[in-house]
Parts: sequence; C-alpha cells; structure tokens
Amino acid sequence: MFIQDIDLKLKDWAFSQRKNLPYELKLELTKKRIEDWYSHWSGDVYISFSGGLDSTVLLHLIRKHLYSDIPAVFADTGLEYPELKQFVKTFDDVTILRPQKSFRQVIKEYGYPVVSKETAAKVRKLRNGNLGERYRNYLLNGDERGSIGKLAEKWKILLDAPFETSEKCCDVMKKKPFKEYHKKTNRVPYVGITQDESFERRRKYEKTGCNVYDSNVPKSQPMGFWTKQDVLRYAAENNIDICSVYGEIKQSSSGELYTTGVQRTGCMFCAFGCHMEGCPNRFQKMQITHPQLHEYCFKSWESGGLGMAEVLDYINVPYLAEVDAINGQGARYQQFKIV
Ligand code: SF4
Repeated sequence: MFIQDIDLKLKDWAFSQRKNLPYELKLELTKKRIEDWYSHWSGDVYISFSGGLDSTVLLHLIRKHLYSDIPAVFADTGLEYPELKQFVKTFDDVTILRPQKSFRQVIKEYGYPVVSKETAAKVRKLRNGNLGERYRNYLLNGDERGSIGKLAEKWKILLDAPFETSEKCCDVMKKKPFKEYHKKTNRVPYVGITQDESFERRRKYEKTGCNVYDSNVPKSQPMGFWTKQDVLRYAAENNIDICSVYGEIKQSSSGELYTTGVQRTGCMFCAFGCHMEGCPNRFQKMQITHPQLHEYCFKSWESGGLGMAEVLDYINVPYLAEVDAINGQGARYQQFKIV
C-alpha cells in the first residue's frame, strides 16, 4: 500500500471515529465547522431547511448560537407532510423553492423511486440505458474484483416489473431547485446530514468530513458525525419546537430518546427504504394519520392516483394498516390508534 493510501485510510478512519466523541465536544466541533464555512464564503451561506428534526436542530444551533441572520431555504416538492409545510412557515426568513415538475410527472417520465437510489439507478440503466456489454455484465454479475456494485439478486425482479424504476426524482424535485438558487444568489448551504442516515451518506461523510469546499456542489454538513440520539438530546435540552408529526420526545427505560410520532419525515410518498421498515411502516401509518393522502398514493394511475399499490405489491411491502398490530405497539404508537 502506498503512503498516500495509508493517509487516506487514516483520514477516513478519523472522520468515522468522530461519532464516538462526547456530546459536548461534538457540539463545539460543529460550531467550529459552521464558523469555518461562514468565514470561507464571507457569509454567503444558507441553511437547507427541510422542517425535519435534523435541520430544525441545525437551524436552531446556527441562528441561536452563531449567526441569527442566515437565510433558510425549503424545497416544497409537494410531497411533504402538510404539517411540515405549516411548521416551516413559522420560521423567519425562509425562501420556498418549487420544482418545475410534479411527482406524477416525474414518475411518468423517469419511474418510481423504489428500494434505494443506488438500486434504482442500476435498474434504470439495465432497463433503458445504452450500456456496453462489459458494464451491463458488471451490473448484473460483478467482475473479477467481486460482486460489489452489482444489482442485488433480490432486486433483479425489478428488471421485469410492469413499471419503471429510477433514481432521478431527487434530482428534479430537490437538487435542481437548489442549484438554481445557488446560481441566483451565489450562496452555499449548510445541510443537516447526520450519522444515522443511509450507508451511502455515511460512507460519503467518511471520505469528506464536514466542510466540502472543492466539489461541484460545495456544502457544509457540520452535524455529519452526530447520531440520532445527539439530535434528540439537543432538541430536548434546548426545548426547541419540532414539527408535530414527530409527536413528543420521550426517554425509554434504558435511557434511549425517541419520538412518539413518525420516525422520519421527508417525502411522504417516497418508497426508498420502505422495504426495511417493520410494521407499521410509513405507508401503514399514513393510512391512519393522513387517510386521504394515502388513498391518493395507492389509487390506480388511471384513476388519477400515484399507482403505488402495484409497486408495493410487486416488492411485497404492506401498505394497509394492520389495526391489531398497530394497537398492540402500546404508548409508542398511541397517536396511531384506531378507535
Ligand atoms: S426523497 Fe424520494 S420522493 Fe422525495 S424527492 Fe427524493 S426520491 Fe423523490
């Protein structure tokens, strides 16, 4: 191994170890990274604000402790919880961006966001890409280096699905509006990415650390090494308002913090990651908390819905609430009880 490779590995290791720092040190390191970013760009920065727990904490931390006048920017994809949109509007100085296409248009043009970004991209390429034989073979079977990067056997069923699958949705609905905002204002973002997000995000953080200066899309992720427990602790200790869909922050008998409502916000109709959730999953909860939106989501495409029933049936993910199972979850899902 070359010395540069060892250096890189050490750097990755150092970034990955930050999640083990004591909470107080994490807080200080985060503030330092926020200040570094601010001074590097001479204050031409903004907070990418989704209304979710992580970005609510980030916004509080920046505006309350460091710079009270940094603008926040929210991408209104039309897929957020209605409560979340209302919540975002309760903050000062929030610019609302809107994508040029609706979710229905995106599905029609590109396909459904299913399983994960990486899997959806592979399925799209294999179904519709003009691929060389070697690359196609690699996506299907791996190569001499092994099977990393190939489409998982389990998801090869998507190659024959009666619907298209694609990773493009986020590009159209979120990335493009933010890129245009950047072009117009020259401001660069702080984003509330944390450790407990997807494996891919964690891997990326371990490569770059918090402040990514030399990239096509510069960004600061000053909470990149925080765990969900850190986020909940900050919210609880600072008594900050969080969106009502999360319910309340409570502590279990083992000392773990949790929210009594939904565990994730983001786009309500997104199927990325839903196959990994236990019962009740996001769609089963939605049937109880937002029945009309649930109906729209699962109504057939021809009747004006999003046609997600066909998609979830195909990948074997339940989307109808199992009343007994939900009621059996006790206090944790109390607000989802059907009476
Ligand atoms: S999170 Fe899912 S639904 Fe939302 S923009 Fe990204 S791919 Fe689309």
